[in-house]
Amino acid sequence: MSPTVAPPFVQSAPRLGNSYTCDPVLPALLRRKLGAELLARLEPELVELGELAAGPLYELQRADRRNEPTLTQWDPWGTRIDRIELTPLWREAERLAVRFGLTAIPYERREGAWSRLRQFALVHLFHPVTDVYTCPLAMTDGAARTLLDAGNEALVAHAVPHLTSRDPASFWTSGQWMTEATGGSDVGRAETAAHPGDDGRWRLYGRKWFTSAATSQMALALARPAGNGPGGSGLALFYVECRDAAGRLDGIRVERLKDKLGTRKVPTAELTLDGTPALLVAGRTGGTRAIEPMLRITRTWNSVCAASFMRHALALADDYAARRIAFGAPLAELPLHRETLADLHAECAGATLLAFLLVELLGHEEAGELDADGAALLRLLLPVAKLTTGRQCVQVVSEALEAFGGAGYVEDTGLPVLLRDAQVLPIWEGTTNVLALDALQRSDLPRGLAALQRRAGRALLDAAPALGTAAAAARAALEHAARWLVPPGDAVALQAGARRLALTLGRALELALLVEHATGLAPAERGRAADWCRRLARNGVDLIAD
Ligand SMILES: Cc1cc2nc3c(=O)[nH]c(=O)nc-3n(C[C@H](O)[C@H](O)[C@H](O)COP(=O)(O)OP(=O)(O)OC[C@H]3O[C@@H](n4cnc5c(N)ncnc54)[C@H](O)[C@@H]3O)c2cc1C
Repeated sequence: MSPTVAPPFVQSAPRLGNSYTCDPVLPALLRRKLGAELLARLEPELVELGELAAGPLYELQRADRRNEPTLTQWDPWGTRIDRIELTPLWREAERLAVRFGLTAIPYERREGAWSRLRQFALVHLFHPVTDVYTCPLAMTDGAARTLLDAGNEALVAHAVPHLTSRDPASFWTSGQWMTEATGGSDVGRAETAAHPGDDGRWRLYGRKWFTSAATSQMALALARPAGNGPGGSGLALFYVECRDAAGRLDGIRVERLKDKLGTRKVPTAELTLDGTPALLVAGRTGGTRAIEPMLRITRTWNSVCAASFMRHALALADDYAARRIAFGAPLAELPLHRETLADLHAECAGATLLAFLLVELLGHEEAGELDADGAALLRLLLPVAKLTTGRQCVQVVSEALEAFGGAGYVEDTGLPVLLRDAQVLPIWEGTTNVLALDALQRSDLPRGLAALQRRAGRALLDAAPALGTAAAAARAALEHAARWLVPPGDAVALQAGARRLALTLGRALELALLVEHATGLAPAERGRAADWCRRLARNGVDLIAD
């Protein structure tokens, strides 16, 4: 008789609850900003997308894990075709993005100044389960904004209805073609040349080194019109429609798809432009200025997506901590594991509030409801929020993976991809250093800092007594930042300290916003948020080195 052997232990997998209703910050944040009536009108779509994100989309994402876009350059008979096939997850993501109006909402403007908040609340739910389909969406949104701001009526009438469509049949995405082999930070070195054609259109010749939405119907591209001088001021912004009437790429060759660390669902291509027909968007010079609206929008998407990745990783880690037993108790009951996760939640909550402040300011600016102080704060926050949340995301997601032990390192749990994808957030749309210099040199820092201090001051004004230490830490960090800038140090020291300065501004404002958030909650609901305030202060907000 064989001995009775107990079945081997099988660990149950982490599960997600509704991504909206289970979010510890977003519903309360929306209630504070939108009020009960407007939120009640918007909540059904948030609950619906939250359910999809935690269920069918999350399942599809895991089933799609090994799929990647493919590039077929030649047909069997030797014709160059450069066809890119996307994965099933991305095809479903596009369908849902159009259905939920992720690039339509801010242009329909049904909620006025709060339209951006509605849009990005949905993006927050959509992003972590769609393998960075938010990349083409961000550029599509940015292209619509750029064309509108440039006031080019013909292009607006032609392209914006596609970019903001709620009809899958007419929806277009857009690329942004800026980076060349010569540099993505210093785009003024771009080599792509533009020559006038004899049909009223221009022809572009050059090589674009990173183009992420390689399947897009259109793109906004920087190129140097013949006869223009060197540097960024000699570049112009061009509108490119990628395919001709027969659906063939028009003067564009896809040389290869990048073999990347992460974002592997994103078909990032190297393109050769060989006589690509193009139209000027806004004059023969000033292209880097004309494309700024694109960067403002994509940096806002980047900030929200950073917060959203953190939230997703922590939702999984929290659930796992309740299921996984070690030393006789669920991980969730082990003091040090709880401590570790709570510190990460504090970072995530701070990042969420900072990203959504950026969203709020952007929405009010687009509605013409932003005063001078708000405008100065927005200019400073665009680089500061993007760089602060991007760095937090990589750290939080890395720690969240460790909270799964070895499982966090195993591909078919679907966890490692989160870290690889998160790593792009501090790189594209401006690296940490480049954005820190942007904040220091190009954002009108004195006015921005004064506006930021006033906003933090308002946030801390009625701080609950128990949050006094956290409030003091936020104030002290901002005062230190202001002292560090005055009197102006030498230019080299200022540049060298720009990253510490920008991160201090970002983290101190996060802490102030978290104190405001906790104070605004009913006393019975305040405990967890108040705990995050103390933790964020303890994790360190003042990074300035004198
Ligand atoms: C997955 C992916 C997709 C992308 N998609 C697109 C796209 O669709 N369209 C597009 O146009 N671009 C795209 N990019 C390019 C991206 O925007 C650039 O890689 C980025 O802007 C950095 O440019 P670079 O790679 O040339 O690095 P560099 O500009 O060479 O920078 C190298 C390093 O030097 C630092 N540095 C540069 N200047 C300074 C300075 N003044 N002071 C201090 N440090 C400095 C940077 O911080 C960085 O660490 C994509 C990149 C990736 C990774």
